[in-house]
Amino acid sequence: MSIIPITVYGDSILRKKTQKVQYVDDELIQNIRDMFQTMRNASGIGLAANQVGLDKSVFVIDLQEVEGYEKFKPVVMINPEIVLESDEIVTIEEGCLSLPNLRSDVDRPASVKVKFLNTDEQEEIIEADELFARVILHEYDHLIGKMIPDRVNENIKKKLQKQLRDISDRKVEIDYPITEK
Ligand code: ZN
Repeated sequence: MSIIPITVYGDSILRKKTQKVQYVDDELIQNIRDMFQTMRNASGIGLAANQVGLDKSVFVIDLQEVEGYEKFKPVVMINPEIVLESDEIVTIEEGCLSLPNLRSDVDRPASVKVKFLNTDEQEEIIEADELFARVILHEYDHLIGKMIPDRVNENIKKKLQKQLRDISDRKVEIDYPITEK
């Protein structure tokens, strides 16, 4: 397993829609192991493949370190599709390993139904709410090239501009490896 430098705001791969996975092979399994290790090393709770430079439609989530989620089973979602989103919208503050030190309130559906392949290439459908729904929607966004600044209003986005520039210039202090500019 290895820890991979995380891509940050400004890296073009974060802006592209990722490719669908054709089949689960050894390489993908290795990628997934690296993603978990990279995510945990950075104290993250979710990580999408393009955050470690891979053009693949996969993300991993592990909420075990979060209070109240100690029994959460880490999950890998391959080729995820959002099947249903609740009409109810909630505002929650989010962070992102590709936006070091940035926090912002983001409005998203409160609950979600998602269809995906697991690592045995079996189709699964999960209904999620609260934090789990939030992380699924955030990671799914990565796979379609979207990030927190795309999900906030113009006012908030303006306020984030300087911080976004600093991130893309690597003027950030963080304790996990990120890509070089
Ligand atoms: Zn993120």
